[in-house]
Amino acid sequence: MTTDNQFDLIVIGAGPGGYVAAIRASQLGLRVACVEREGLGGICLNWGCIPTKALLRSAEVFELMHRAAEFGLKASGVEADFAAIIVRSRDISSKISKGVAFLFKKNNITHIAGTATLLARSGVWQPHRVSVQGADGSALTYAAKHVLVATGARARPMPGAAFDDARIIDYRRAMTMPAQPKRLAVLGAGAIGVEFASFYRALGTEVTIVEFEPRLVPREDAEVSAELGRAFAKRGIALALNTKLLSATASASDVTLALEAREGGAASTLVADALLVAVGVVANTENLGLEAHGISTSRGFIVVDDALRAADGIYAIGDVIGRGLAHTASAEGVFVAEYLAGLAPKPVPYHAIPACTYCHPEVASVGMTEAAAKDAGIPLRIGKFPFKPLGKTMAAGEYPGFVKTLWHAETGELVGAHLIGPAVTDLIGEMTLAKTTEVNAESLLHTVHAHPTFAEALKEATEAALGHAIHL
Ligand code: FAD
Repeated sequence: MTTDNQFDLIVIGAGPGGYVAAIRASQLGLRVACVEREGLGGICLNWGCIPTKALLRSAEVFELMHRAAEFGLKASGVEADFAAIIVRSRDISSKISKGVAFLFKKNNITHIAGTATLLARSGVWQPHRVSVQGADGSALTYAAKHVLVATGARARPMPGAAFDDARIIDYRRAMTMPAQPKRLAVLGAGAIGVEFASFYRALGTEVTIVEFEPRLVPREDAEVSAELGRAFAKRGIALALNTKLLSATASASDVTLALEAREGGAASTLVADALLVAVGVVANTENLGLEAHGISTSRGFIVVDDALRAADGIYAIGDVIGRGLAHTASAEGVFVAEYLAGLAPKPVPYHAIPACTYCHPEVASVGMTEAAAKDAGIPLRIGKFPFKPLGKTMAAGEYPGFVKTLWHAETGELVGAHLIGPAVTDLIGEMTLAKTTEVNAESLLHTVHAHPTFAEALKEATEAALGHAIHL
């Protein structure tokens, strides 16, 4: 093996976990290679966060153009060009993926194209070996002191509704449909499901969301779910909540869903042009060679310790360990890189990870829901403030929504923040800082918030928790 094939760290997977870890490790002086079998940037840049936000932006502009008269403008003949919307989204993904290639070059990271497998180690003092099979079938072996597995996940298939890439589709197909469906059924009301529902409805598709739980975005605070349910109903999105999918049968022209009420078992059918199955993910661990290192999995996800170590010299981060968010994967990647470089990084603050859903209206949260905090016996001061009375909301003509803050009644620290409405996926940054740095309500109120901004709602909701909101 030549020195060209030897590294301090080999990262498998160039998603937001892997590529960020590779860059940070290289910044800290490690010799780094990153193996990727598809596009640099992983699901996030190519098939997840970025292309969906591009689609949602087209939808938002389209909806605003239809409301032009409200803003004193005239716009006629406004039409959606579905194919052009898809092309824009794909172009943005391609551009941002090229940005990762540029960053790899800039940081002296060796990009190895192909599929990686961990080989058995010949002894604990020996380096790890990774075999990489290229698209042409050639295989090369590389060695490294450490390996970071960041292979991500893919769409979970639903029993009784196998993907066929035409009528029963996953998120990749949903963002590259050859034509806009007239009727779309969406199975699953988590972030991916409601984002696609929001996008397609904005373009005029008849959308029905089928969800087993009694509410949309079931991991969010119940009041936020209820508000999103009202907003979606207003937008004409049909909701089949408390509903179980028994099977989906595709034909050349449509797909028929056999449904059953969760309680009572009443049966019904729903016919659509396509069914998007958005019910979670499966970890990419096949043929990785985990067994050779005694690496265990739980529900398919790699099990790691507090240092994100899966076995001696092998670490794992991101979706392959079941995290499910790009920024968590990146934070874990930075943690592992700094740990391997001999720094003493602070653990990833899992209690303060923001969650954002970019449907219209947007949803964002950090920390515990009211129900979870109450279950944990945490004494709360709850403050809620609607965006509606804010000057910024009126000027922007935005769907109002609200901010709900939960503060610890004794320590004054932020327990959780739950937002629905305009710009909340950006506003959550302030509440995440408050949660991570244990800022209390008084400090947040001592911080002057610019006027007019949507951020004033954060301050008002905090004042409301202390009983003195100005504009309520
Ligand atoms: P991935 O991004 O999945 O990257 C893993 C990479 O490893 C892939 O490129 C894969 O090709 C490669 N790989 C796998 N096996 C091998 C192998 N054996 N050899 C070589 N390469 C391999 N998260 C957010 O935080 N915000 C959002 O707005 C958001 N929107 C989303 C929208 C959609 C439609 C989807 C599907 C997901 C979204 N996510 C979002 C989730 C986010 O994309 C993931 O959490 C994130 O990409 C996980 O990063 P990762 O680095 O762990 O894995």
